Parts: sequence; structure tokens; C-alpha cells
Amino acid sequence: MSKHKILVTGGAGYIGSHTAILLIEAGYDIIIFDNFSNASKESIKRVETIVNKDIILIEGDIRNRNDLHNVFTHYCIDAVIHFAGLKAVGESVEKPLSYYDNNINGTIVLCEVMAEHNCKSIVFSSSATVYGDPHTTPIKENFPLSATNPYGRSKLFIEEMLHDLYISDSSWKIILLRYFNPVGAHISGTIGEDPNGIPNNLMPFIAQTAVGKLNCLSVFGDDYDTHDGTGVRDYIHVTDLADGHVKALDIIKDIKKVITVNLGTGTGYSVLDMVKAFEKASGKDVPYCIAPRRAGDIAKCFADPSYAKEVLNWEATKGIEEMCQDSWRWQSNNPNGYEG
Ligand code: NAD
Ligand code: UDP
Repeated sequence: MSKHKILVTGGAGYIGSHTAILLIEAGYDIIIFDNFSNASKESIKRVETIVNKDIILIEGDIRNRNDLHNVFTHYCIDAVIHFAGLKAVGESVEKPLSYYDNNINGTIVLCEVMAEHNCKSIVFSSSATVYGDPHTTPIKENFPLSATNPYGRSKLFIEEMLHDLYISDSSWKIILLRYFNPVGAHISGTIGEDPNGIPNNLMPFIAQTAVGKLNCLSVFGDDYDTHDGTGVRDYIHVTDLADGHVKALDIIKDIKKVITVNLGTGTGYSVLDMVKAFEKASGKDVPYCIAPRRAGDIAKCFADPSYAKEVLNWEATKGIEEMCQDSWRWQSNNPNGYEG
């Protein structure tokens, strides 16, 4: 028997598609809502094959009140998992208004339509970027917040907006999930991260170098105060991250305040640790050269995930080997992503 109907905005994207699988496996009925600005319909087809079930897919934009209104009129939605948004830091500096429109305005319209239809439970995709340059690691949820670019500011502002919404109406149930660095892919190797053009993020860049699409990884800085001088991050397997959303839904109806949770493993790996682990998992070389630091990067960022364990009964289970193996399976089976 199915549990509740969950609207998954941005559900055709990287994290959304992996979460869709776990939600269905956990017995939720889901509706995916996406404008396909950064996703392909093929990802949903492949999710359907994995779960052996048809998925309700609505093509629409969260900034479009009518698109959303139609969904809420047609389906009785219990809760929303809100992934939809733009996420590229560099692009956000070039097109700030587009980021504020998609991310902030989109979330405003979504919450307004939810309230009109008396659906007041939302799980929001926030990011570790809201910690700015943390004074120390591991990072706890109560650390000071700041933003250094429009993308980060959009996440920070949405978090604050959702707090204000709760203050205005405490019947809202709001969970803010701050993701660290999602990597890896579903174990089937049929869905995964499929960035447009040359990847900005480390893991897809390494994977595309290993498969021979790119020649050489530029390691952005080797003079940070870390164990080997290269930047340290908390890489988390996307399936573990997806599971955090299922755990959030499990508790959402019982929460009495806005819950803010780090989703990370608690372990930091450097760029060179990731290169070595990927070479081992793939059996391929990942040529690299040391390049200058990337503007805006910080030395170290990893989570204290203990609150997630306490409040969601969630913890990451997959290590760096599985992250690299699964990423490699996806990349080597789909060198051109969903297009291939
Ligand atoms: P993604 O780009 O793969 O997925 C986002 C999805 O939202 C895409 O399918 C896109 O087509 C859709 N979308 C964008 N704007 C929309 C709009 N206006 N209306 C409807 N659909 C829209 O990104 P992802 O990596 O799966 O990230 C999901 C969420 O998690 C984002 O909000 C992102 O900011 C956040 N996040 C991602 C990371 C990361 O490193 N991947 C880290 C922290 C937080
Ligand atoms: N990085 C790198 N070369 C790349 C991409 C990233 O050396 O081509 C480094 C980056 O400087 C950071 C780490 O890899 O230390 C993770 O970067 P990513 O962009 O994946 O995530 P974020 O910066 O958001 O943590």
C-alpha cells in the first residue's frame, strides 16, 4: 500500500532522480515536477526501469503559478521535496538575477501555491556553502552563516525566508538539508551526474578525464593548510544523500520547529585523495597538473553529521571506494551522459 503523495521539484536532476528511486522503494507515491532546464527525460525513463514502475512526470516551472496550481489541484500532495533550482556558482556570478529568480522567486511561488492548497510540509535542498569559510572543522549546524556568491546567497536567503514563514504560521513543517559534496551514482550505472559542457565540480571532471573525454585535471591549489596542500571536502554518496530525504519525510509530520541538518559523512578528502581513489576504482590514469587556487575556494569543509544521526536517525554508509566505483560505472557506461 502506498504511503503519501510527494511532489519532487527538480526530480529529473542528479540528486532528485536518485531520491525518486529511494522514495518509491520506501513506498511513497511521487510526482516529479521539472522544467528540464538542467535535466533530461531519459533520466526518468531509467528511473522507471530501475523501480519497474511508471512515474508521474509534470513538465513545468516552479516560477509559474499556473503550472504548480494545476499539480496541486489534480493531486492531493502531502509534502514537497524541493530540489528545483540553479546550482552553478560561477554562472551565478555572471547571471545573478537568473539565480535569484529561479531559486528565490521560484521558492516563493512554490510556498504560496502550497499554502493555498494547505500543503505545508517542505524539505529544502540547502548547501554547505551557507557556512562560507568556516572558522574550524568539522562544521556544526549552529556555525555562523555567510555567502560569497549569488548562488550561496540564494540558499541562505531561502533558509531565512522559510524560518520567517514558520514564524508567521507554525503549522508549516520545514526541514532544511545542508548537503556537503554529492558524488557517485546509482549502483546500476544507468543514472548519474550529467553536467552540461566541461564540469565545474571535481568528481565529474575526474571521471571524464579517466574515460578520456578530458586530457588533464587542473588541481586548484596545492598550498592550502591541509594534509597534502590540496582542498579538502566532505564527499557524500548520492544514494546516502537521497536516503537522508526519505528519513526527513519519515519525521516531518512530528517536528515542532524548523529542523536544519548537515548531510555529510564527517570525513574530509583532498583533491589528490580523490584522484588516487578514482584511479584505483577505475584502473585508469587521471593525469593532473597543479594550477592556481580557484577564486572563492576554501581550504577545508567537512560536516559534523551527529545531529543528522540524532534527529533523522540517518548516517552515511558508503565510503570513498564505492563513491568512485559507482561514479566510474556510470561514466564508463555512459561516456556522453544521457545523450549517448
Ligand atoms: P540538478 O541541476 O541536477 O537538478 C535540479 C533540477 O531542477 C534539474 O532537473 C532542473 O531541470 C530543475 N529546475 C531548475 N530550475 C527549475 C525551475 N525553475 N522549475 C522547475 N525545475 C527546475 O542539480 P542537483 O545536483 O540535483 O541539485 C539539486 C538541488 O540540490 C539544487 O537545489 C542544488 O542547489 C542543491 N545542492 C546541490 C549540490 C550539488 O553539489 N549537486 C550541493 C548542495 C546543494
Ligand atoms: N577542484 C579542482 N579542480 C577542478 C574542480 C575542483 O582542484 O577541476 C577542487 C576545488 O578547488 C575544491 C574541490 O576540488 O577543493 C571540490 O570542488 P567542487 O567544485 O567539486 O566543490 P565545491 O567547491 O563546491 O566544494
